[in-house]
Amino acid sequence: MALTFSDLVKVAKQVEEKRSRIEKVRVLTSFFQGLTPEEAALAARFLAGFVFPEGDERELGVGYATIINAIRQLRNSRIAPLMREPPTLQEVYSTLDRISKASGEGARERKLILLRGLFSRMSEEEVEYLLRMLFGEVRIGANVGVILESLAKVGGYTGEEIRRGYMLLGDLGELARRVVAREDIRSVSLEIFRPVKPMLADMAYSPLEVLREHSGYTSAEFKYDGVRVQVHVKNGRVEIFSRRMHRITEFLPDVVDKVREHVKAESAVVDGEAVGVVAGRPVAFQELARRFRRKNELRSFLRSVPFQVYFFDILYLNGRMLIDEPYVTRRNLLEDALEGELLARQKFVSSVEELEAFYEEAVREGHEGVVCKQPGSNYEPGVRGKKWLKLKKVDTVDCVIVAAEWGHGRRAGWLSDYYLAVRDENTGGFVVVGKTFKGLTDAEFEEMTRKLLELKTREEGWVVHVKPQIVVEVDYSEIQRSPRYSSGLALRFARIRRIRPDKSPDDITTLQELWRRYHEQRKARIISDA
Ligand code: AMP
Repeated sequence: MALTFSDLVKVAKQVEEKRSRIEKVRVLTSFFQGLTPEEAALAARFLAGFVFPEGDERELGVGYATIINAIRQLRNSRIAPLMREPPTLQEVYSTLDRISKASGEGARERKLILLRGLFSRMSEEEVEYLLRMLFGEVRIGANVGVILESLAKVGGYTGEEIRRGYMLLGDLGELARRVVAREDIRSVSLEIFRPVKPMLADMAYSPLEVLREHSGYTSAEFKYDGVRVQVHVKNGRVEIFSRRMHRITEFLPDVVDKVREHVKAESAVVDGEAVGVVAGRPVAFQELARRFRRKNELRSFLRSVPFQVYFFDILYLNGRMLIDEPYVTRRNLLEDALEGELLARQKFVSSVEELEAFYEEAVREGHEGVVCKQPGSNYEPGVRGKKWLKLKKVDTVDCVIVAAEWGHGRRAGWLSDYYLAVRDENTGGFVVVGKTFKGLTDAEFEEMTRKLLELKTREEGWVVHVKPQIVVEVDYSEIQRSPRYSSGLALRFARIRRIRPDKSPDDITTLQELWRRYHEQRKARIISDA
């Protein structure tokens, strides 16, 4: 019998009720064992709150208000539903797919009809779970980590093997499908034109820390402040993917041209940063992020600003995956495959003085700082760790907005005071660490208000709670202990530095990282007071 949505909700509830991680994994493991590969794919995505594969550009295109409207209409109507049978998971997915595809005139009405049809066949509890899956305010208690662990058990893999398979496939659903179909995850490789999650850097606080961490020898590279790009090339075809694995080829025609001209390989996947350059200096990311929101504006902007691209890694070359090769080997291959102009500036250093000098040079030329890479390290897709350490002047944190308050006076009519949250690695949830109304322009307040209202999940007096989706980079003066927030920490003088549409809530600063910074900061103060 086909898996119904109701079956999925039962399992989600069971997982949620279990307190221990081991128990959660046990419930999910036996659940996945009873599914067909196709059902496993859908179930894994739904449980993680994705619906569509990550990197897929489909969006539901309905706000919370529309959904609530559909539920109200349904409650008020006396019409008996056409079908009483509970929908299968596949039906729920197909309906959501149709909703995402409805466009043009009357789209809203069609979306409403589809939603009503779906809800009419579900219990209240199921509707509630669907909303939570779609709007993710509260995760189902089966975060990606728990799902991965269960899939490892189902297929008999180590955690490392399953995580690597996930990063290379870039889609939890496809991973689950293969595991349940008994396909070997260990043989998953990088494929041209299928993006993988980029490797990320941890924060370092001093050149000395970097050198200690990298055993006295590191490769320092300029940290360019632009847009992360993963470029796939094969026989003249070029595709560009963003950090969130969206296809962004059309937006960066300059980069496509440069790659065609300068990449000397039959096939390759290279990792780098695209930067707008005006009068020899990089254009602030803020400028780019603003433009990226309006596609038409973006096209004309891109025509007016020349783009440079700097590549710092190579993951694949002429049919060979390189992610397990050490950094030094990859760098050599990158230098062979590219012409100099496209290479990120790089220098091997072994002393604090050398690293400081290189850092100063980067900043003088208008860049953000440097990223230091351990010469012997492999490329770990999707992982933020100490193999890559960034050093930059301004210390910022990436937060997600979880709620907002209506403004007063000059800001009346706008949601202008934002609750900033970081991610708690232990629970997968978000915890508030500060509040701010500083840093945005009037136009941005307006745009932000519109977006937040689309993400609204509930309202409490002045406060509008939203689905955690919008990521902002935040400046602060100090991290303090705080009894007010459950996180235990608060950002003092928080100010939004820029909106980061390129980052997802999974990429933001973690609570654990913030505690680490809090202790570093205290250490620094003790030293400077001494
Ligand atoms: P952050 O956004 O502050 O977490 O810094 C990490 C980002 O810096 C990466 O995701 C890249 O987009 C960017 N970046 C710029 N230059 C480099 C580089 N040489 N190596 C790695 N990442 C870089």
